[in-house]
Amino acid sequence: MIDTLYIEEEVLDHPRARAIGARFPRAARVICQRYGELFNRKAQNFRLQKARPALILAKKHGQLLQPAPPQYGIGGRHHFYFSHMLNCLYDCRYCFLQGMYRSAHYVVFVNFEDFQQAIEAQSRALEGEGVQFYSGYDCDSLALDPVTRFTESFLPLFATLPDSSIELRTKSTQIRGLLKMAPLPNCVVAFSFIPQDLGRALEHGVPPLERRLDAMLRLHRRGWPLGLRFDPLIYHPDYAQTYRALFDTLFTRIPPEALHSVSLGAFRMPETFFRNMVRLYPDERFFAGPFANRDGMTSYQRHLEQDMMRTCAAQILEYVPAEKFFPCDDEYR
Ligand code: SF4
Repeated sequence: MIDTLYIEEEVLDHPRARAIGARFPRAARVICQRYGELFNRKAQNFRLQKARPALILAKKHGQLLQPAPPQYGIGGRHHFYFSHMLNCLYDCRYCFLQGMYRSAHYVVFVNFEDFQQAIEAQSRALEGEGVQFYSGYDCDSLALDPVTRFTESFLPLFATLPDSSIELRTKSTQIRGLLKMAPLPNCVVAFSFIPQDLGRALEHGVPPLERRLDAMLRLHRRGWPLGLRFDPLIYHPDYAQTYRALFDTLFTRIPPEALHSVSLGAFRMPETFFRNMVRLYPDERFFAGPFANRDGMTSYQRHLEQDMMRTCAAQILEYVPAEKFFPCDDEYR
């Protein structure tokens, strides 16, 4: 799956870089200085690279935790995200990563220990206040877990930080690592869904809904708290029926007590990212909208967004108590 491995000179001897590299014995190896030289280079084509991405092993410098966007909140007073990885195995046509980054190569920052120190320090500094960490902002939290062993490395830390929680956000079925561990009450495994037909058209490479649902049920049987994420909501003329069918499928199969949280948010992203995405896929029907630009963001026209959010929020609240429901805007509670 990986033909070329770029490795920063600084991490050549890092045990995690060695372990990951050993999984791709046939890949060509290229030593580089800083990942940004490759990743941020101008005149790259995300779409072409996506067909055959390389893997870059690097060290993350600078600020390791970032304040999470407020609409990400699922409880807790303080919210931070961190990115041990950039980019994703899957290829969702609505994904903001393809508009944000110039490169589709996967970057794994192998200095997990530095992230863990930052998480621990932040948790201790805000002890007793409820700190929520998110790991699936710039990547899918679990899709590459068999390679990175992310969960095995990070979750033991959260076992020692009961006031803090972590959300693993995913569309994958890579749960083997989690099934081997004792479940943590402060680790939410959150799965994102859109209606099945839309998923087939827009979420390239993502496992079918049934397999993800099966993964959720297996995690539940082991005691892992689960999340459902309906974000982004995608507009289409019969959205009320297709989302109703999706909610019926999920909420009738997933026991209510399995759910930690359900969140909802309409498609939105910075205008510049959206323009980049349209340039990459000019024939993609999804980009025909109907979108509008407001305050530097591209989203559905306001009345459509409101209708969709109200309709889906009302449908979800038929299944889920209000205290477990986190729409991206309090207006829809
Ligand atoms: S699974 Fe998430 S991160 Fe990956 S391509 Fe799809 S939207 Fe982007």
